[in-house]
Amino acid sequence: MTSLQRNSVHMSYSRSCHSQVLVLNCGSSSLKFAVMNPHNGDIAISGIGESLGQDEPVVSWKSHGERHSQTLPENIGHTEVIRFLVEKILSGHPELREQLIAIGHRVVHGGEKFSHSVLIDDAVINAIQECVALAPLHNPAHLAGIDAARSAFPNLPQVAVFDTAFHQSMPRHAYIYALPFALYRDHGIRRYGMHGTSHRFVTERAATLLNLSVDEVNIISAHLGNGASITAVHNGRSVDTSMGLTPLEGLVMGTRSGDVDPGLLMHLGNRMDYALHEINDLLNKKSGLLGISELSNDCRTLEQAASDGHDGAQLALDIFCYRLAKYIGSYHAVLPQVDALVFTGGIGENSSLIRQKVMTQLAGIGYTVDAQKNDRARFGEEGPISTDQSAVTLVIPTNEEWVIARDAAELVPPDTPNHDPRTRE
Ligand code: AMP
Repeated sequence: MTSLQRNSVHMSYSRSCHSQVLVLNCGSSSLKFAVMNPHNGDIAISGIGESLGQDEPVVSWKSHGERHSQTLPENIGHTEVIRFLVEKILSGHPELREQLIAIGHRVVHGGEKFSHSVLIDDAVINAIQECVALAPLHNPAHLAGIDAARSAFPNLPQVAVFDTAFHQSMPRHAYIYALPFALYRDHGIRRYGMHGTSHRFVTERAATLLNLSVDEVNIISAHLGNGASITAVHNGRSVDTSMGLTPLEGLVMGTRSGDVDPGLLMHLGNRMDYALHEINDLLNKKSGLLGISELSNDCRTLEQAASDGHDGAQLALDIFCYRLAKYIGSYHAVLPQVDALVFTGGIGENSSLIRQKVMTQLAGIGYTVDAQKNDRARFGEEGPISTDQSAVTLVIPTNEEWVIARDAAELVPPDTPNHDPRTRE
């Protein structure tokens, strides 16, 4: 057994009602944090440090319902934000500081090395480092955050929760590209998928709502936010997902194109003199809803503009829904049975228009929207939006932070400060 595998085994199950976990999500120029009770998901403090490494870094946070914000010295990075969190924010809440049992880190890419969350040790850090080529913007930022958190909290266990882990159950025929096999064998080029923590959360929640155990639930999970992906879940495990080697593949997104003809890249390069970095920019930052509408990547703005007669906004929404419906149809072919279609993410949780358009497109395979339930399902409301005769369709607000907090709490070793063996479940 390797140390990576050993660390992923549940070492204890410390979830005192009063335990807290610090959840960290370090991006290249931002750091989101939350102090959360892993038992019930209650958030005591949440905040974000933005514009890190730039001119005017600022930390904003909310604690006990009050909002605060502070500008920090220019060019500061993750380490200083974590220091600020410890010295300024947590020092005002010594009771929370004492209740911290672990730190949970969101890590975007674990390659093929991680199919579960793991306690972080030097071997795990090396493995995350080895996956930098697969997530060159994200993994280095996660490593900086882990390093800073280890220095600030040397006695607390740190746990890595990977966006890719949930999709490691995909079968080979779903994740291998039809490219020369050596690209996979020698360079790890394959489909990995993202948003796994969100798809996992809604899978578990859907099982509860459907009165099924997680290992028997079959769903199609559509995570629709500024980034968007869809996953086919069979018996609680991801068997296919729309994102690939990178988050660019699949659905139309806020600024990403999703699936295109790969021949487009040669056309742009050879015929239109685009440089590689310009193609990268075009597909990741200038396409999707923004590119089609020539107006905005924001679904709310587009819905308003479309109702005011903006043709580009209407076309962007039409393409978004059409392409999504095609994926849902294809995942019906992937799964032997579908217990529910689930909408989540900012758009999935709030846009009754998008949900209604997608379900109308899917009428031929049994979907009918219940207009009243659909209109009510927004701002964190959970529940069905389909009629009694329809294929079951649910809205489930996602909660990736809670998954991270729960995984971190479950992996806390028994000899950790604040660990209370009486609370083992
Ligand atoms: P996320 O990346 O999950 O935060 O989702 C962001 C997306 O959700 C943006 O496109 C928002 O416009 C969209 N969104 C949030 N609230 C609504 C709403 N009430 N109606 C339509 N779209 C919404």
